Amino acid sequence: MDLLEKIVSLSKRRGFIYPSSDIYGGLGATYDYGPLGVELKRNVTERWWREMVYRHDNIEGLDAAILMHPTVWKASGHVDAFHDPMIDDKASKRRYRADELIERHIGKLEASGKEKPAREVRTRFVAALHSDDMPKELHRIILDEDIRGPDSGAFDWTEVRQFNLMFETHAGAVVDDETKIYLRPETAQGIFVNFRLAQETARQQVPFGIAQIGKAFRNEIVARRFIFRMREFEQMEMQYFVRPGTQMEHFEEWRAKRMQWHIDNGIRPEHLRWHGHEKLAHYADAAFDVQYAFPMGWQEIEGIHSRTDFDLKRHQEFSGKKMEYFDPHRKEKYIPYVVETSAGLDRTILMLLCEAYEEERVEDEKRIVMKFHPEVAPVKAAVFPLVKRDGMPETAQALAADLRGHFNAFYDDSGSIGKRYRRMDEAGTPFCITVDGETMETGAVTIRDRDSMIQERIPKNNAADYLKDRMRSWSRSA
Ligand code: ATP
Repeated sequence: MDLLEKIVSLSKRRGFIYPSSDIYGGLGATYDYGPLGVELKRNVTERWWREMVYRHDNIEGLDAAILMHPTVWKASGHVDAFHDPMIDDKASKRRYRADELIERHIGKLEASGKEKPAREVRTRFVAALHSDDMPKELHRIILDEDIRGPDSGAFDWTEVRQFNLMFETHAGAVVDDETKIYLRPETAQGIFVNFRLAQETARQQVPFGIAQIGKAFRNEIVARRFIFRMREFEQMEMQYFVRPGTQMEHFEEWRAKRMQWHIDNGIRPEHLRWHGHEKLAHYADAAFDVQYAFPMGWQEIEGIHSRTDFDLKRHQEFSGKKMEYFDPHRKEKYIPYVVETSAGLDRTILMLLCEAYEEERVEDEKRIVMKFHPEVAPVKAAVFPLVKRDGMPETAQALAADLRGHFNAFYDDSGSIGKRYRRMDEAGTPFCITVDGETMETGAVTIRDRDSMIQERIPKNNAADYLKDRMRSWSRSA
């Protein structure tokens, strides 16, 4: 089993993530977060919110509706240009993104030391992405380079075709073109259309940002790899409005801050890298992705984009409402430029699961342990009575209740202590506390560290402060 399969299986077994509508056989590319998963997710969104909104007094929060006026998506370009170039393998009947097949092929050439051919294909690929007939050019490269179906090994392709990714629905009872609306494919537009209101009501001055966490929907054609590519997912986005001409300095500032945030969540720096875009989107003047070394290779988790004034200008044009800002210091009017940081919440969760998963041999037994940073771990501490008598359960329950005033704590008295430890290792709980005979006499409990498995005794009345200290100072052991 590869790492991703192990994570899919652990996620279901322990309650991190389940296939959606599991009793009906699941729904493609849609997942539900179970009791542990939802805690992990909440911890991540809280950390993001704290970092972006609370730590910056010039960033405000927003929670816009998923359903928006349909003209929003004409203005944003999504109605006309939110397509993926897809190609079908007739042998396996599977559909692939043509650009991804070519990127993979280039990666393979590079990995096998064929640098010159790799460079040549890349040059052709970049030209194809910019050409007027992109699907045809991509198709030619696939044929010329003898790129085969990844699942079948066959060379039996259809043409490359474009598919729009927006989910459509209808508002009200009448189903016609007039009532057609979309499920938002990104949260960013909710921020742009509220730019003036948020700036005025929060009395912010440029540069300032608006941050939002929310669901987005894309009718992804190739939706595989667990929660990496879903049809319903969540984004954590921040749009930073700046004076035209200053965008590159803010772009660099946000690149540095966003990379650091992932490291602060416990991701090893060597598992993260920057990836520049081969082709900038029509609205961007700079774009870099943060990529993570997933089991299936380096993949994007967050995009940092300098979007110029494209979005605000288009909304001004389509709505007829001014999107200008008057700069009181420079005494000038302008439409601000935008630097955006756009992270996938679910991809962040998948990254944390991959980063945390470890298998170890302990006394000839396999131990599966999720070494999450304690600040993101779903449960911070578990409390066990050594045996179910002599007042130990009551003392342990009282301690768990006390800890719950500080963070998420869990009480467990079933099975041997060894079994209870193993369950908590799989849940990624950083500390297990045992109430035993000595506790009943001296008030001291043992605390077992998830990573080192070292146990120490501390007075139970200090447990909350002691654990908070340990969580803050955590670092990953080699
Ligand atoms: P990709 O190239 O992988 O489709 P993208 O470049 O279209 O991603 P953006 O539009 O920049 O992605 O969206 C920002 C972030 O939203 C991505 O970095 C990713 O983490 C997340 N994201 C985008 N599409 C999905 C999806 N279908 N499922 C889960 N997360 C997604």
